[in-house]
Formats: sequence, structure tokens, C-alpha cells
Amino acid sequence: MTKIFINFEIQSTLKKNSMNTSSSSHSKKIKLRKWTLKGALISPLIIIILSLLMADPAMRIVLVLTLASIAGMFTTRFIYAIKTNSKFWRRIGLGILSFFSLLIVFLAIKWKHISDKGGQIRQEPFCIAGNLYYVGTKEVTSFLLTSSEGHILIDGGYPGTADMIIKNIEILGHKITDVKILLNSHAHLDHAGGLSALQKASGAELWISEADAELIASGGSGKRNLGLMNFLVYIGMAKFPIPHIHHKFKDGTKITLDSIELTAHITPGHTPGCTTWAIPLKENGQELLAVSIGSLTLIPSSLFGEKYDEQLQNEFNHSFEVLRNLPADIFLGSHASFFNMKEKLKQRDTSLNKVAPFVDKEGYLKYIKDAEKELKKALEKQQ
Ligand SMILES: [Zn+2]
Repeated sequence: MTKIFINFEIQSTLKKNSMNTSSSSHSKKIKLRKWTLKGALISPLIIIILSLLMADPAMRIVLVLTLASIAGMFTTRFIYAIKTNSKFWRRIGLGILSFFSLLIVFLAIKWKHISDKGGQIRQEPFCIAGNLYYVGTKEVTSFLLTSSEGHILIDGGYPGTADMIIKNIEILGHKITDVKILLNSHAHLDHAGGLSALQKASGAELWISEADAELIASGGSGKRNLGLMNFLVYIGMAKFPIPHIHHKFKDGTKITLDSIELTAHITPGHTPGCTTWAIPLKENGQELLAVSIGSLTLIPSSLFGEKYDEQLQNEFNHSFEVLRNLPADIFLGSHASFFNMKEKLKQRDTSLNKVAPFVDKEGYLKYIKDAEKELKKALEKQQ
């Protein structure tokens, strides 16, 4: 970055000194123009190559934005070169350059944050309780339920996460081909993105809630989406590979496989068919109910000047009530940060009872309460 600044300064000084010699100034202008054009041609190429190399779509977005701003710098330089040596334009040029530089620093930090937090960082798999295992990444979760007749896998992460999930299943001593049923928390890129790849690798049958089926079958876009989501899907940023849906289910459906029986509770709002899975487990003769919440996150509406309509409000309120009435012992969710997995894993390392840190009714109720507050705040704001 500093180099670009210095170059810019040198070029400006050079130009100033040569003001009297119009021919040399003219040739410099041509040089600058050529240089800028080269940059403008090369940057889209770099963007395409690097985006193809990036596995995580979230990182791809930031990468494209960063490179787009670099391309912007080339353009600024181009404009500056054309517009004489006047102090005014020099200041404007430098001002725009500083803005882009700050933007790049900001995006780099954001990029780092996304990759640290992201769904692409591997997490060692572990047993949560009974026959329920964690096979997801550090942030985006996936759960494996095992039985002697085959396994059930909940959520496929991002498209690029599928391989990590398969590896985690193998580390636990199981085979992806023994996964007979695939389930989903909700039809967003970070949870449904890997379903297609996992389906191909396992041959498992996919069950999707009726209300999310449209989103899954279209790779993420649908009538009940807010404009922002549909826009992101439309430009390819949030679109995911489409898996084949074998079965559609309604609220309260029980999915069974050998000794496994879990119940689907439709908790709409985040997506219309967002599903919370209630999973009864046996741990040391004790019965525990694990509940993995689909998501209660509010998708931003203001970008497209939309409002959270009455239907959406009713959906969320229904979900708060359903979740509050579930006798949850073990608190889980589609994102590890919902149930503070990082902290719980630390406690697990030092605890004799490996299940105890995950038994967290208090955290479960707090998550619902916080989401309720968030919605209330957003509704007050939109009035
Ligand atoms: Zn989501």
C-alpha cells in the first residue's frame, strides 16, 4: 500500500517538474494511461482466478470487494493522470486513494474475522452425549446420530465443508456410506450448501420441511425471502448446489432409523421451514433431550427498504413459544456461537463428566429471550 502511495507521489512530482516540457509531459501521460489500462485488464483476471481458488463463498465476497476496490484505485489514477497537475485534482486523487486504502484495510480485517469465525475451519469431532456426535466445523454445525442400522446426518455446511464433514465421520470410525438419512436445519448456503455433495457421497435420502422445500429446490431463492437474500442468491453469492429432495415433512414429524427417533419442530422466521430438531438420548442410563435450534436470527430488511411484515412477526412469535415449551436439556443450534460451543469445549477438557458442559437449559432460554428482544427492537425501529 505504502509503495503505491510513494509511486503516486513520485509520479506527481515528476509530472510537476516536467510541466514546462510539454512533449515529455505528454509521453508521461501516455505511459500512465497504458499502465492503468494494463492494471484494469489484469485485475479482473486476478479476481476470477482467486475466486475460483477460494472455497468459502463468504471469503469470496470479501475478496471480490477488495480487488474491486484495487481496480477502483487504477481508475482513480487514470482520472488523475488525465486531469492536469492542478493542486485541486491532486488532493481529490489522494483523497480517493486514501479512502480505497482504508477500505482495503477494513476488508482485510473483515476477511480475517470471517475466516476465523467461518464455516471452513475444521473442528475435531467429538461425542456430545449418547449416540450423538459433533462433525461440523468451528462455527457451522453438523450432527451425526449413529445406530447399528445406519446413521442420520443433520446439516451439510457450506458447499466446501462437505469434505471436512466426511473426514470427521471417518475419524469417529464411521463411514459416510452408512449415512442413510440427511436432514437440514434451514435452507441457507451455510447449512444446505454441502447437502448435494454429501448426498452424492452417501447415497442417503434427504428429508426437507415442506415450507423450505422451495428454497432448497431453487438453490436458495424464494417468495418468502427478504429482498437481500434473493439478491445475494441472484448474483450467485448465496446460491448453493441443489440436492434431490426425497421426502417432505410437516411440523411434528418423527424421523426414525433403528433406535434413533428425532422430532421435527418447525420454528419459522429465519426461513419459512426452519427446523428445530429434538433428539432424545441415553447417557449412562439417564435420558436427556438434545435440542438443536434451527436459527432465530433476524435477516436485515432495511437495505431494500422492506419491513418485517405481520406474517414474519407471527412466525417468530410462534417459534419463541414452541422452543420455550420444549423440555431441552442439551442446548445445540445450527451455529456453534448460538450455544457457546467454544467455551463449553474448554470446560469439557477439564471436566470429568464430558456431557455436563452441554447440559444448559439456562443458555437455551437465554438464547430465545435474546432473539425475542432483538425482534422487539427491530419492530420499534421500523415504526
Ligand atoms: Zn441461516
